[in-house]
Parts: sequence; structure tokens; C-alpha cells
Amino acid sequence: MAEAGRVISLEDAFRIVDETLAGVRLAVETVPTRTAVGRVLAREQQSYLDLPPFDKAAVDGYAIGPGRRGRRAPPCRQDACGTGGPGSQGQYRVVQTVAAGQAGVAALHPGETVKVMTGAPVPAGTTRVVMQEEAEQYGEFVKLKEQGPSNFCKQGEDMKRGDVVLPAGIVLRALDVGNLVGCGITSVEVFRRPRLAIISTGNEIVDDPALLTPGRIMNINGPMLAGLCVASGLEVSSQVSVLDTPEAVSDAVHAGLSQADIVILSGGVSVGEADFVLGALERVGLRLHFTRVAVKPGKPTAFATVEQFGKLFNREGKMVFGLPGNPVSVFLMFHVLVLRAVARLTGGPLRLRAFTVPLGGAFRRRHAERAEYVPACLTNEGRAEMLAYHGSAHLLALTRADGFVAVPFGIKELPAGASVEFFQLPGCSQ
Ligand code: AMP
Ligand code: MG
Repeated sequence: MAEAGRVISLEDAFRIVDETLAGVRLAVETVPTRTAVGRVLAREQQSYLDLPPFDKAAVDGYAIGPGRRGRRAPPCRQDACGTGGPGSQGQYRVVQTVAAGQAGVAALHPGETVKVMTGAPVPAGTTRVVMQEEAEQYGEFVKLKEQGPSNFCKQGEDMKRGDVVLPAGIVLRALDVGNLVGCGITSVEVFRRPRLAIISTGNEIVDDPALLTPGRIMNINGPMLAGLCVASGLEVSSQVSVLDTPEAVSDAVHAGLSQADIVILSGGVSVGEADFVLGALERVGLRLHFTRVAVKPGKPTAFATVEQFGKLFNREGKMVFGLPGNPVSVFLMFHVLVLRAVARLTGGPLRLRAFTVPLGGAFRRRHAERAEYVPACLTNEGRAEMLAYHGSAHLLALTRADGFVAVPFGIKELPAGASVEFFQLPGCSQ
């Protein structure tokens, strides 16, 4: 605990989370591809099919073969033949009409064409499909322009059977589901969804406005964390509020760990008289890795894991994050630390995008011994504008935020136009 009580940098906190969870992975399960949006792919996926699976018409029109193979058409009425007129080159006899889904297409012979619909297989030997709009059909003959785009897709031009469709470790989007199914992959191996238990601590918090008495406040963190979990593709196994007593907190942590991979507490993690989280984590037998991080907001943040004989309890790992009580700290630390741990459990990507952008206005602060994250919005011109913000209880300030500007440790002033790192948080942009 003495070691874990040191104030460490956010970079060290990241390193400790990464090192502690190295080699820990959740179990893999097979699910129907159509239900897999938001899941992390556990294995590289190879196509079962050539795409397209056959040479396929891209337009409604007439398939023709190589060279000038048109033949002289029998005499026809001038008005029906159009400009081509009877007997001119580019005349083809229509031998078959093929719709999408139809098989058994005749091979092309000189002077013949097959009428094809979009998506239909084209005959063997096709070099071009002439768009219907560029053709003049009269009876069983048609006059076609022989030069122009091919208008058909070659078998396997998008994807060959056995080629890699998607690598392991990506979070599947609807787009990926479409591509996987298109390649014949109707079930996929994905990591089990991480399960999170949420515990809000505090004698002052209530979940029902009818219970608000002087000194009490609504429990913001519980419902917000549950929403952040759902939006991040995580499963919430429980969400409870507990009083500030050592027993209540350790009972809740124990219960949370029995069902969840990650327990998140909010509040009570500091060293005040009513802060029982750190003691509860030790009482439950967890190993504390850190309890204070040099970041504003979010300094009293703890990370602990279940261990037995110095090793993680099982290959899947179980851990606890003790987050501060104030909601802006909770929001930020969920994104930077909890989602980092989630990514480590599934091999998925870190969902925090950072851009270097110019700062809209000047920034100044009195103390620089912590990295500071300031709520900001991105302007259409690509500048980060810091928002009016009263501190870590001011969650309403985030309503207009796209993310946070990071002011590094040691920096007291930033002039307008300074290059800053802007973190786009998914929780802001949804
Ligand atoms: P603590 O870390 O427990 O000292 O809490 C710090 C601040 O966050 C206090 O003002 C608490 O009232 C507030 N707080 C704690 N938990 C919550 C919660 N679930 N929702 C909103 N505010 C909270
Ligand atoms: Mg408290």
C-alpha cells in the first residue's frame, strides 16, 4: 500500500495497467455475424468466396465478345432500326435474356449478344456490356456501340477466396458485418463481452429525487457509467449505490467481483474520514497497483487486481478501478483508464483518438504539477476551444464538448495558436 500510495504520472498508470494485464484475455465465443456489431474479432477472417463469385453485369444491357463481331442484320423498317439502318455493322442477334439469379448462360458466338440485367452472370467470353440506354433493339436484333467501358465485374476482382477480409482485434461495425456476410462468413469468433459492476459510494447520493433532503445530491455516476459501458459494447452485471461504511463498500466489491471482470467504484477513494474504498480493496484481498495519479481532474484514482500467489487469479483477470467522486473525473478516467483495460482484455483498439490542433484562445494556470485535461470543443476550422468550466463537478460543461485538451505536466501557460493534443472521447460525440 505504501508503494501504491505514491502519486504517479498518467503515463506510468497506463504502463502499469498494460503490464499487469499483459497476456490476460477474455474467453472467445462464436456468435452469428449479424449480431456481432461492437464485438472484438478474436481471429483473422478469410473469405469463403470469390467476390464477385462470377463475372457479373454491372448495368442492364447487352453482353458482347471481343472485336467487331457484329453481323449484317436482315432488312428491317428504317424507323425501327434507327440511325444504324439495315445491314450496318454493330448489329447483334439477341439469343438469350438473363436476369439476376439465373444460371445456364449460353456462350457468346460471333454476331450474338445476350441481354443481361444488373447482377446477372455474363456469358463466357464477354468483353463488354453495352448499356441498354445506348442500344437500339428491333425485334430479335439490336444495334450496339462496340467501344466504351466494360460495365461488368470480373470474378474475384474485389476479394479472392482465402484472402483476409478483416484482421483480429478490430471492433466490428455494421460495415464489417456486411463485408463478412458478403464473403460467406455467417458466424464469427469474438471475445466475450467484458462484464462490469458499478458501485457508487456516498452517504449523500440518492437515486430518486423524492429522497433529496438538504445535503443530498443525485447519483450521477452510477447511471452515467452504466450508459458509458453500454455505449462501449460492455455488459453491466450490476449497478448499486452503497453507504460510506467499510463493510458496505467491501461487501459491494466482493459481490461485484463474483460476477464482473471489472468493478468500477466512484467516490470514497481518497484519504478523507469517510473514504473507505482503499481499505475495502485491501480487506477483500486485492493487490493495489496505484491509488493516486498526477492528473487533473482524477487524482484519487486506484487500480487493483485479484491475485492469488502473486499471479492473476485466472487467465481472464479481474480488476477494480476506484474512481473519484466528481462526475467529470469519472467521465474522463473511464475513457482513459477503464477503456484501456477493456482494450487489453480483448486485444481491441484504444478508442481514444488524439489530434494535434491549434488552441483557440490562451490558457493559463497557477499550478503545473499535474497533467490537466480541459473540456473543449473542436471548431469547424479545426481549432480546440476550451469551454467555460467550473471544475470536476461541472458535468454540464461537457454538454458542448467534443473531448479534452491535454495540458502537459509542467506547463503553466499556452498562447492562442499553440499546438495542443486534443482527445476526442467517444462518450462526447455520441
Ligand atoms: P468523494 O470522492 O467521495 O469525496 O466525492 C467527491 C465529490 O463527488 C463529492 O462532492 C461528492 O458528493 C461527489 N460525488 C460522489 N459520488 C457522486 C455521484 N455518484 N454522483 C454525483 N456526485 C458524486
Ligand atoms: Mg464520498
